[in-house]
Amino acid sequence: MTVRPLSCILVLLPLSLVACTSEETTPPNGDLECDVVIVGGGVGGLHTAFRLAPSLGDKVCLFEKEAQVGGRIKDISLDDSDPNAPRVGAGARRVMEGQTVLLDLATELGIQLETPPITQDLINARGGFAFSKEGLVNLYPGLTPDPGGDTETALYDKLRFGPERANAASYANFEAYVRAVAGDEGYEFLHDMSRFRADFKVPLDVAGYLDYLDEEWDVCCTPSYPIGGMSQFPLGMAAGATEKGAQIFTSDPVASIDRNADGGFDIVSSSHKAHADKVVIAVPPVGMDKIKGDVVDDIKAQQVYKDIVGVKVVTITQWWETAWYANIVNPNATENARVWRGWTTEHCLNFIEIPLEPYAAAANVTRSVYNDDPECSNIGKTLQTRETTLWKRL
Ligand SMILES: Cc1cc2nc3c(=O)[nH]c(=O)nc-3n(C[C@H](O)[C@H](O)[C@H](O)COP(=O)(O)OP(=O)(O)OC[C@H]3O[C@@H](n4cnc5c(N)ncnc54)[C@H](O)[C@@H]3O)c2cc1C
Repeated sequence: MTVRPLSCILVLLPLSLVACTSEETTPPNGDLECDVVIVGGGVGGLHTAFRLAPSLGDKVCLFEKEAQVGGRIKDISLDDSDPNAPRVGAGARRVMEGQTVLLDLATELGIQLETPPITQDLINARGGFAFSKEGLVNLYPGLTPDPGGDTETALYDKLRFGPERANAASYANFEAYVRAVAGDEGYEFLHDMSRFRADFKVPLDVAGYLDYLDEEWDVCCTPSYPIGGMSQFPLGMAAGATEKGAQIFTSDPVASIDRNADGGFDIVSSSHKAHADKVVIAVPPVGMDKIKGDVVDDIKAQQVYKDIVGVKVVTITQWWETAWYANIVNPNATENARVWRGWTTEHCLNFIEIPLEPYAAAANVTRSVYNDDPECSNIGKTLQTRETTLWKRL
């Protein structure tokens, strides 16, 4: 049987990236008087607008540079002309059970979530295949399998709670710290088993990354997927904020933010000059680099800002004629034997994700995520430049 994708779309998420048109209530180039200006219409900016709009109404002004809101939540449809065509996330896709703010927001916005059972990973590393990370530990000489059966978590526990953490600041970067605490093979194992392999390759501040791990590693456990895609969150918040009077301007990038003599702020966008008592900047560093003014300059001068390292992520969304992957199962599993994620360490394609939630599964759509190691991200960038000819519609 020849299996070929019906179509695939590649998206480079430069730590950024959907759909709400603004009701333009002010003439282009008009002055705006706002209590709060919000720069950026990703979930961060939109949540701020959604919460402020009931009390401040049209004194909430949000500027988004793209034609659509959503930022790094970007759902892709096989048929852009059909608003009811299934959409699947090129960026964020799921809500974990520990993300209570998002889960409560889903209830508030009437977003339905699907929670498929946790199934199998099929992992390829160092020439071996296994249905669990633990099944590969023996390919890393010198690494002792954890008696509890979860060597990966045991190694992370060592990094987070071991005595060497007290000396973390003395290491040049996270890689050096991991090699010292977990050994070279421990480092390679953690790198290979990670979804975020760049974290082990780019020079990250040790203390900062350990703080992040403290927040992230224990986030539990079962993922849920919004029917209609993750963009239901930004779309719902944009609609709710607009309904309460907030002004959302799309295709209107902010060019500068300066303090003014009144103790407030002057914000210049491509179509507006806004004056505000407060300003909320909800853009990633890649966006900050294009904004001028003393406010942004002051933020950029802070060490904590300078320490941020951007990592590019490439995802490819593919629709298939048949769900050929449905036959990939763990023969030893007594239940939920299907594979939902195939990983590899052999090349730049990090993993292919097979949606099992009914909404996306019915669309025969998969998502592949490139390894985010710097050299692999660059290959993704090359692919993206060919997007219109090669990748947009194969
Ligand atoms: C591949 C991938 C998978 C992910 N998976 C998950 C997941 O499953 N679950 C999860 O919870 N999170 C996930 N995340 C993380 C999540 O997507 C982000 O944390 C979240 O979307 C960030 O929102 P934000 O509002 O902070 O920033 P962004 O989404 O980046 O929004 C910033 C906005 O600012 C706009 N902007 C930039 N410059 C300007 C300017 N000068 N003027 C006006 N607007 C400007 C941008 O266009 C953008 O819309 C994932 C991220 C990626 C990349």
